[in-house]
Amino acid sequence: MKGQLSARICFIFALTLAAPLLFSGCAVNPVTNEREFSLMSETQEIEAGRKAYPLYTQKSGGRYLDDELQSYVSEVGKKIAAKSHRPGLTYSFNVVNDDNINAYALPGGKISITRGLLARLDNESQLAAVLAHEIGHVTARHGAAGYTRQVLAGVLSTAGIAAMEAADISGREFIAQGGLVGMQLVLTNYSRDQERQADSLGTEYMVAAGYDPRGMVEVMEMLDSAKKGSPSRIEQMFSSHPLTSERLDAAKRRTDSYPDRFKTTERLGYGHFEEKTGKLKEDTPAFDKVADGKRLMTEGKELEGLKLIREGAKSAPNHAVLFAALASAELKAGDDKRAAEAASKSVELDPGLFQARYAAGLAEFKLSEYEESIKELDAAEEIVPGQPAVAFFIGRNHEEEGQREAAAKAYAEVLTKVKKGEMAEYSYNRLKEWGYLKEEPVKK
Ligand SMILES: [Zn+2]
Repeated sequence: MKGQLSARICFIFALTLAAPLLFSGCAVNPVTNEREFSLMSETQEIEAGRKAYPLYTQKSGGRYLDDELQSYVSEVGKKIAAKSHRPGLTYSFNVVNDDNINAYALPGGKISITRGLLARLDNESQLAAVLAHEIGHVTARHGAAGYTRQVLAGVLSTAGIAAMEAADISGREFIAQGGLVGMQLVLTNYSRDQERQADSLGTEYMVAAGYDPRGMVEVMEMLDSAKKGSPSRIEQMFSSHPLTSERLDAAKRRTDSYPDRFKTTERLGYGHFEEKTGKLKEDTPAFDKVADGKRLMTEGKELEGLKLIREGAKSAPNHAVLFAALASAELKAGDDKRAAEAASKSVELDPGLFQARYAAGLAEFKLSEYEESIKELDAAEEIVPGQPAVAFFIGRNHEEEGQREAAAKAYAEVLTKVKKGEMAEYSYNRLKEWGYLKEEPVKK
């Protein structure tokens, strides 16, 4: 009866509200088995996640460079996903190179955990809890529900996956910050009900995979104490996954309801976890040093900051993202040659890292190596397409080389992405000067 009713509401809803939209429909929720109105079919959901995943990974500082750790996390995740309501999805799990304490799921089963969060976990059950919670959001289609809600609320003006992508990556402060920091995620801010459901599904899945449900309680307690210790690093996590005392109490109750065999002192995979995350924990002080250095530089303490960043990169010399940060810092401090060296080391360590290619492009531009710079910027464009700052510097290079038409094309590209700020102004003035734009009538 209930299913019938919601199917009818579904139909009316689709007819009245979604008629002008390109796609709409009802889908059976894999967890509740009830029909619900959704603007995202399963195919679209999977496609959106698949396309956005590499971009989100770049936004989060790229993949953490440790293949052994990556496959370990992926193994744990897949073991749990196999016990979920949607075992047939192609799940991916990765560790992204972000200082923040966070984890997120894109629709269709693409899940990331940050280095900052992983560094604070103590055992495999805790890791399982984080991944299982995210899997819960995926199986209950919370991302698709959030997307549908946002479209209906007019937050996303155009229906379709293309619109979602454009919203993902359009960092305006991007150039000023010399990284991808300015980009905002359009990930769902989950409701309390969705959080509750993800916790309960997550616990169910992790236990089915053989993990101690106390891992869930421990993670929540850790997050709660991290909120007091480093509030800024945990902001994203709390805005997308609000943590309440009610969630913690529910997790404790749930744990008590499981049989004793899940409450052994012998933690599943404990030793394994320590071994696999050892290097990450060892390198954490280097990352912290670089983060501190960046903060000092934004506070105007340039030399002090640069010194910390140099030390940090030197003490963990296998991480591309640290050398990309060093390159931006050297650029800011005006040492273009050192910037170019750091950037090229960064590219060497991870040719697929946007930040590395972008920093290399800027450094080569400063050194008047225009062709070299265009090569790096083209590579950056391929990794994360459509960044206005990339188009802008491609234009500047062409301009310096006297290739006016190519420069004009790049500047026009900039203006399709940004309308305000230095880059837009510069591009606009050049195009006008070169006769590509007509005088705009002055409004009175
Ligand atoms: Zn959540």
